[in-house]
Amino acid sequence: MAGGQQQAETNPGAIPAGDLPAGATGELNTERWLRDLQQALRLEVERGCGDLMGRQQSFSSFAAECWQTVPLSLQSEERSQAQSFAEAFATYGQLSVARRQGLVRRCRQWLHDWQRSRQPSTPVAPPRLRLASDPSQAPRRGSGGLKLDTPLAEMPGVGPKTAARLAALGLLLARDLLHYYPRDYLDYAHLVRISALEPGRTATIVASVRRCHAFNSPRNPNLSILELHLQDCTGRLRVSRFFAGRRFSSPGWLKGQQRLYPPGADVAVSGLVKDSPYGPCFQDPLIEVLEDPRALVRSEQIGRMVPVYGLTEGLGADRLRQIVAGVLGLAAAQPDPLPLAIRQQHALIERADALVAIHRPTDAAQLQAARRRLVFDEFLLLQLALCRRRLEFRSRIAPVLQCPAGGGDGATDGTTTTPTLVDRFLDLLPFPLTGAQQRVLSDIRSDLARPQPMARLVQGDVGSGKTVVALAALLIAVEAGCQGVLMAPTEVLAEQHFAKIGAWLPQLHVSSALLTGSTPAARRRELLQDLINGQLQVLVGTHALLEDPVQFQRLGLVVVDEQHRFGVRQRNRLLAKGLQPHLLTMTATPIPRTLALSLHGDLDVSQIDELPPGRQPIRTRCLRASQRHEVHALIREQVAQGQRAYVVLPLVEESEKIDLLSAVAVHRQLQEEVFPDLQVGLLHGRLGSDDKQRVLTAFATGSCQVLVSTTVVEVGVDVPEASVMVIEHAERFGLAQLHQLRGRVGRGSAASHCLLIHDGNNAMARQRLEVLVGSSDGFAIAEMDLQLRGPGAVLGTRQSGLPDLALASLTDDGSVLELARDVAQAVIAADPNLEHHGGLAKALAEQRQRQLEAARLN
Ligand code: ADP
Ligand code: MG
Repeated sequence: MAGGQQQAETNPGAIPAGDLPAGATGELNTERWLRDLQQALRLEVERGCGDLMGRQQSFSSFAAECWQTVPLSLQSEERSQAQSFAEAFATYGQLSVARRQGLVRRCRQWLHDWQRSRQPSTPVAPPRLRLASDPSQAPRRGSGGLKLDTPLAEMPGVGPKTAARLAALGLLLARDLLHYYPRDYLDYAHLVRISALEPGRTATIVASVRRCHAFNSPRNPNLSILELHLQDCTGRLRVSRFFAGRRFSSPGWLKGQQRLYPPGADVAVSGLVKDSPYGPCFQDPLIEVLEDPRALVRSEQIGRMVPVYGLTEGLGADRLRQIVAGVLGLAAAQPDPLPLAIRQQHALIERADALVAIHRPTDAAQLQAARRRLVFDEFLLLQLALCRRRLEFRSRIAPVLQCPAGGGDGATDGTTTTPTLVDRFLDLLPFPLTGAQQRVLSDIRSDLARPQPMARLVQGDVGSGKTVVALAALLIAVEAGCQGVLMAPTEVLAEQHFAKIGAWLPQLHVSSALLTGSTPAARRRELLQDLINGQLQVLVGTHALLEDPVQFQRLGLVVVDEQHRFGVRQRNRLLAKGLQPHLLTMTATPIPRTLALSLHGDLDVSQIDELPPGRQPIRTRCLRASQRHEVHALIREQVAQGQRAYVVLPLVEESEKIDLLSAVAVHRQLQEEVFPDLQVGLLHGRLGSDDKQRVLTAFATGSCQVLVSTTVVEVGVDVPEASVMVIEHAERFGLAQLHQLRGRVGRGSAASHCLLIHDGNNAMARQRLEVLVGSSDGFAIAEMDLQLRGPGAVLGTRQSGLPDLALASLTDDGSVLELARDVAQAVIAADPNLEHHGGLAKALAEQRQRQLEAARLN
């Protein structure tokens, strides 16, 4: 029907532009055809059906053409109707006005019906409910003589039994209830029509009763059933409620129920939607009869977000809700600690409103606003405390550690100044520092040259070369006449550091010693003596360094390697030994930013974000236990090329409960059955220090080619010839830990391999391991680990510095954390002692008090 299309272009009608459309369109555009025709019909009616003249044609000829050239979307009967309309409009000019009006009306009606029939049933708007005045406002009226520190046992309506049960939840005072945040919410604010109900989701509907039936269960005489058949404009639904107990089975009671829900009555129903053979249904929902669909809902729950609290034996959900509701009036009792200007600037709602709304949100949006405010507060207090700690730390006086000669970074050759210790050290190294190492070293150098103590965290992926940076820093301290300490989390690592230092420091005429738990008493005495009289310049050790008899003559710098293995308290204990040493902490566990900000917000952070050149990427694969022969073949092939292999196991001894291969058994099997011609070493935490050292040396020098080990190799062991890392039961390790282990290989120039052996049955675990196969970016892996396992697991149980956050999540609330950090920094910068922020100072003091109390209880 190209004619229609053509006509639209070549038939400029006589009707003025803007009055009638220029012409009909063909099947290509139904919407336009409809719109143009409807517009013409409307105009014709408005002008009294006088057969309006357009610019190029009359209304009647335009309409007749339209009906002749109809869109393809018209069905065959519709086409015959169109044909008769076309004929009728062809004679329109000869009809009386009354008949013209009749024709136009019929035509418009037909088009209207046709249009509706074409549209997929237009979605019906969800119902509306009128809820009793905003519940978040209601409790404000009064708190019935309650105070924040009223014991719950004295709360009206709470007897000794209930008080004891609340105490079991840790709820003693009224304020505790206010901060006993719901674990979850039933979203009854989700108002829908019946046709839109989704099984598995909570919802509220407003519907009318078709029929109601209350009867005794045919199978159980003690059970009565109420069945409601409901409908709204979109569909029908069955609702059942069950009543257990004899008292519900009397005919009188059943009749009474039926009378409650007469046919035609409007009801609001909230509950969990279930699937049934007859479609979605509600089982045991909340039901309220409404006087009319617009009547006020009396229920405290229907149509709202209903809080779900952690419960305890003997304390039901409704009872606890009611008790919490009783203290909400107290929320308004405290002034908002956050100045109005900050609240406005960052769109934070008032704290009192947030406290009420977190318990009784009217809808998801209000809940979100409430949560954002309370999460912000948690982070803000944390960040304020960190900012102040930082400020306080910086206000102390530390020795200025500056090389007298003021040498460069060692990379600058040809200067006339006498080379510094650091310069000479860097000359000893068989490689130049990477750009990242140089940058971090110069950060450290300028920190040390200031009288404020340095508090710096160096983050760098495994193998990025943090050790040489640490040694250079220690040499700066030595050159300035101070002593330096390098603390490592394990003996193995401390010994390894010491071995490295032993290769370099004697050449620089710097004295050094190792102090660990297994240092013999005589050696120890001698060493402590040298430390006090200043003979000993660099001390390497484990946490044995923290013990009381260890005293320095002039401690200038403390380097803590793999600092995530140490708690904040341990760190501070060491600091207390010096006048006020500078502090350099290093970590290879890339900490996700949210965690780093929460834990180390008081530290400056430098990043070694570049690996030494020539490193080959590590090829990572996931294998099932049944593919172990491939592992053995790879080890054999690599050893033949002069490389070495680690086999890491999660446990030392076979446990009856957990079916894991033990290191001992694996070692025996590998040595006796698989590699009888090779030397297979065994390293685990229960070995004595000498044995450990012997095993490591054998592996480092190559007299042993395969090292079976528990996770003691995780941190820092450095054997560049190792090119295979096999990890048994990889699913039992966290991703960050696996990444650390993997970092033990790929340190030389040979291509390296990491084989993750898993039991193959756990799809989730397998998926987690695939993250490692796909990524070698420690930060991305750490983020993923945080998402998958949460902060506690990521940091390990030894990390005690995690803040206690009731509501905030380090995984989900990163942006609020950043905001809180910015605000905290601005506040502290403008008002270091919080003299003009009384509310915040008070909140901070209260928090510290709570922490002290909690620490005392533990
Ligand atoms: P980590 O950052 O994991 O503690 P290490 O300090 O143990 O890493 O360094 C890993 C390996 O890289 C060591 O063998 C070290 O000697 C070597 N290394 C460090 N810096 C460089 C560099 N700039 N160029 C080449 N190799 C380097
Ligand atoms: Mg290291």
